[in-house]
Parts: sequence; structure tokens; C-alpha cells
Amino acid sequence: MSLLVVGSVALDTIETPFGRVSDTLGGSATFFSAAASFFCPVQLVGVVGHDFPVAELEFLQRRGVDLAGVERASGESFRWSGVYNYDLNSRETLETRLGVFAAFQPRIPEAFRDARWLFLGNIDPVLQLDVLQQVRAPELVACDTMNYWIEGRRDELIRLLEHVNVLMVNDAEARELSGEFNLLHAARWIQALGPEIVVVKKGEHGAILFTPEVIFFAPGYPLEEIFDPTGAGDAFAGGFVGYLARNGAVSSEHLRRAVVYGSALGSFAVERFGVRRLMDLTAEEIDDRVMHFRELTAFDQPVAIRPVP
Ligand code: AMP
Repeated sequence: MSLLVVGSVALDTIETPFGRVSDTLGGSATFFSAAASFFCPVQLVGVVGHDFPVAELEFLQRRGVDLAGVERASGESFRWSGVYNYDLNSRETLETRLGVFAAFQPRIPEAFRDARWLFLGNIDPVLQLDVLQQVRAPELVACDTMNYWIEGRRDELIRLLEHVNVLMVNDAEARELSGEFNLLHAARWIQALGPEIVVVKKGEHGAILFTPEVIFFAPGYPLEEIFDPTGAGDAFAGGFVGYLARNGAVSSEHLRRAVVYGSALGSFAVERFGVRRLMDLTAEEIDDRVMHFRELTAFDQPVAIRPVP
């Protein structure tokens, strides 16, 4: 059940209506691993620069994340900065500084090449394809992307999707990629490219799963406090793929539960800035929240309504 993730390991500068943090630990692979490590052993492949505070990754190691694939290159670490206004569902990227990421050529350590579960975090689709070719026989390949790559590397992304089983994107990305406003049409359009499973995340409004047989929806968890939505998508992906890897199966029932576990992990991620909440999170808290998700959506079969006279 080894789960391999390749993605960004970053220093984020984030501003929300509730405060500002600079050069805080972030990156798609970091959030993903922090969430997925609750479910199974994780192997992380990424790159950091000479200025990266590597000690901050130690909490991942303690959780069973193998960092042997994190390369330390000379040059500056990848940095991203963004700002949110009161509508925390949308953000503006202020700056993306690729640094060592620009020349990154992921080399998957020999010991990681037999991974059965693979998550291609949000990085250049050219690199995502390169990684895919180095993993021998993955059982399930899940992938994330964003507007930056949909606009800059569209053809390469479409070529990659032929080899992907699960695409996880937010609603704006699904619409931009497909050119379809209707999310069902967008999901069907994406499925025709390759991924039989499409998960569309809608921020605080939940997430929808589309497979050829099933459409399933989980709401966003109604939180008392939201500080920083950064990384919610990657934490969702970590919960979703981690749950599937732990159970070793991709049946419709497992996929539905995976959406709920993903939603639970995403909801924790936003409770504090950066990865802080995922650092002190416990398995019991995850179980409790999943139970609350059940209560949120459970209802009795209604009695038939009376016909209009
Ligand atoms: P999310 O909020 O789940 O979409 O992910 C946020 C994380 O993605 C942040 O921690 C950033 O460091 C990282 N990120 C932002 N832009 C990029 C990019 N172009 N490539 C890779 N990672 C990125």
C-alpha cells in the first residue's frame, strides 16, 4: 500500500483577512503527505533549495513519510505567495518564484519505483509525465493541476491525462480545462480524455465525485473558524488517495468514503495557517469529523407527498 507523491515543497507567503504569514512551510506535496500519512506510509519526491528549513519537515518523517526522495539543490526554494479576501473561495496569486523548481528533474529512488499508488501533485505536467514513466506498475494514478499549467502547458497536460485514473481539480479549473460551464459536462469531457474518475472540489461548498457509474457529493464542513484555505485541495487529495491506498481497492463504496475522508482532511487544513493544523491533528479527530459528516447528510426516507388535488 505504499503511496508515492511528487509535488512542490514550498515556502508560502499568505495573506487572509485574519492575518499574514511569510515563508511558511507549504507546497502541494507537503500538504498531501501530511494528510495521507494518517492512512498509509508515504514516499515523497520533491526539491528544496539551500535556504529551506529542512527541520520543519521532521514532523512528516515522524508520521511515516519517507523523505529520501527530497532533493536538496543549490539555489532558492520554490516560493508562492497569494492573497485572499473575505470570499475565501477565491484567491489571487501575487507571485510564483520557481527557484530550484525550474530545473527540477524528478529522479524516483529505486526503492520507490514499485509504488502501487501514485499522486502527481500540482507541478509542470511535463514533469508529471516523466515521473509516471519511472514508476513500474502503479495500480492507481491520481493527479492534480491548476490554472497556471492549464494555461501554460495545455497540450502536455492533455497528453498526461491519457495515463491518469483520477483527476482532482477545483470547479474553476474543471471549467477552464474543458471549456464547459456545466460541471457534469466538464467532468464527462475530462473523462473522455482518460481519467475515469473526476473529483471536482468546490471549496467551502464541498466536492463532487464523477465516475462512469456514480455521482456522489460531500458538503463542505461547516466550520466555526477558517483562517487560511491554502492547501485544502492537497489535504483533500491526501485524505482521498490515502484512504483508497489503505483499503487497497477502488470500488464505488470506497470512492464515496474517500470523498468524505478527503473533505474531512481539507476542512482541518483551513483551521490554521499553512500546515499547522495538520501537524497536531489526531486520528481520533478525523474519525469524529467523519461521523459528523454522516450526521450532516443523513435523513430518513420521506413519506410520499400528497398528490395535488
Ligand atoms: P492548494 O491550496 O491546495 O491549491 O495548494 C496550495 C499550495 O500549492 C501552496 O502551498 C503552494 O506552495 C503550492 N503551489 C502554488 N502554485 C504552484 C505551482 N505553480 N506549482 C506547484 N505548486 C504550487
